[in-house]
Amino acid sequence: MSTSVRVMIADTRKDGFDLLRIGAIRALVLWRGFPYVFQGAMLGVLLGLAALGWGQVPPAGVPDKLFAKSNLVTLLVWGLWWPGMVIATVLLGRAWCAICPLELVANVSERVGRTLGFRQRALPRRAASGFVALALFAAMQMLIPGGHLHRVPALTALVLSGLLLLAVATGLLYEHRAFCRGFCPASLLLGSYGRGGVLAIRPGPAETCRACAGKECVRADRRDRWTARSCPSLLNPARLQHNGDCLMCAECVKACSSDNMRLLLRRPFSGADARTARVPRVMTLFVMLVSGFVISELCSEWEAAKALFGWVPGYLTAALGAKTLGGWIEGIWTIVIVPVVLWTVLGGVVVLLGGARGLGDAWRRLALPLAVVVAAGHVSKGLAKTTSWIGFIPGALSDPAGSVRAAAISAKTIPSPPALVSLPVVGAVAVVLVAASVWLGTREARLADPDRLSARAVPVLLVGALFLAILTGWLRGG
Ligand code: SF4
Ligand code: SF4
Repeated sequence: MSTSVRVMIADTRKDGFDLLRIGAIRALVLWRGFPYVFQGAMLGVLLGLAALGWGQVPPAGVPDKLFAKSNLVTLLVWGLWWPGMVIATVLLGRAWCAICPLELVANVSERVGRTLGFRQRALPRRAASGFVALALFAAMQMLIPGGHLHRVPALTALVLSGLLLLAVATGLLYEHRAFCRGFCPASLLLGSYGRGGVLAIRPGPAETCRACAGKECVRADRRDRWTARSCPSLLNPARLQHNGDCLMCAECVKACSSDNMRLLLRRPFSGADARTARVPRVMTLFVMLVSGFVISELCSEWEAAKALFGWVPGYLTAALGAKTLGGWIEGIWTIVIVPVVLWTVLGGVVVLLGGARGLGDAWRRLALPLAVVVAAGHVSKGLAKTTSWIGFIPGALSDPAGSVRAAAISAKTIPSPPALVSLPVVGAVAVVLVAASVWLGTREARLADPDRLSARAVPVLLVGALFLAILTGWLRGG
C-alpha cells in the first residue's frame, strides 16, 4: 500500500467518510439547482401553510390542543416540522439550513436590493453577535404559553408571514446572508444543537488549501454569483473546524477548483472538531433559556411533574388576580426564572469546585456541555410529540381546517387517533438518549478544557439526573 493511500485512510478514519465519493451524492451537490430546487419546494409549502392558516382560530368548546392536532397547519408546523427540525439538527447538524426557504427569500431579496441600487450595509454588531436572534427566539417562546402560538393557526400564519417579511427586509437592507447570520430565531438552536451532527462540510488536506492560488471559496468577486459562490456566510471554508455557523449550502464545494472540500459522514461529536472552553455570552444565554423550556416540555408529558412545574406561576397568577396574564407569567417562569435559579445552582457548584472564577465564567464554560443534555431532552419531547400527533395526518388531509373533526373527537363521536408509539416506549428511548448525552456532554467538557473537568462534569450529571427523574413519569405512562 502506498504512503498516500495509507494517509488517506488514516484521514478518513479520523474525520469520517467523504460522501462526495459516492457518485449520486456528488452529482446532486454539484448540480446547479442544488439547493435552490429544494428551497423553492419548501417555500411553496411555507406559503401554502401561511395562506391556509390565515384567520383560523380554535372553535369554541373544543380543547385547543386537540384542535391543534386536527388542523393541518398547526399539525405540520408544530407537530411535525419543528420537532423534526430539532431531531434532524442533533443527528445531522445544520442540514435543515441547506433547504431552508427563508435563506432563499433573503438571498433573492439581497440581489433585488443590489439591483435596485440599495446601499446595503454590513450586519450591525448587535445582530452579528446573535442578540437579535436570541430576542426573537425568546419572543416566540413567550408566544407559546402567552398566545398559544402552537395551537392557533392564525397566529402561526402570522409568525410565518412575519419571518418571510423579515427575511425580505434584512435581505434588502444588509449584505452577506444577514438574515441567517443575525436575525433567524432558530439560528442559535441550530448552531448549538448541530455541533455534534454526523454530517459536516470540511476542507481536505491543509497543504492543498495553502497551495491554492484561486481561493475561490473566499474571493469577494465570487460572492454574488448564483452558484459556486465564495462562502455567502463569510466563513473561511478552508479553515472550517466546527458546524456552528456553516449552513451546509455546499457553495464552497462547488466553488473549489482544487476539489478539496468534503461532505463528511462522521461519528457524532467528532473528536476532530474545534471546541472552545468559554462560549460567547449570547450562546450561553440561549442554552440557559432553552433549558427552562425543555424542562417544562419534559414535565408536560407527566401530570404530576406538570402540576409541580406550573405551581409557582399558577399561584402567582391567582395571587395577582391576573387570569388573562397567566400564560405570560408561565412564559417568564419558564424561560427566565427557572433558568436563572437552575444555572445559579449549577454555576455555584462549578465555582465551589474551583472550575470557574465566578458565575458568569461558570455559565460560559457549562453552556456547550449542557447543550448536549438539553438537546437530548428536546429530542425526547420531539419524539413524544411527533409519535402522538402523527396519527392525525390522514384526518387533517381530508379536513385541513380540523374544526369538525376536533369537535367530533371532543364529543367522542369518533375516536382520537392512537399514538404511533406509547409514552413508556418513547420514555425508554429518551432514557437511553439522556444517559448517552450525559456521557457525551462530559466528553465535550473534557475536550473543550481537560483542566478541572470534574467541576463541569457535576452539573452535567445533575441536569441529566433531573431529566431522568422526570422521565420516570413517562415510563409509567404519564
Ligand atoms: S439560519 Fe435560519 S434562515 Fe438561515 S438557513 Fe438556517 S434556519 Fe434558515
Ligand atoms: S462553509 Fe461552505 S457549506 Fe458552509 S456556509 Fe460557507 S459555503 Fe456554505
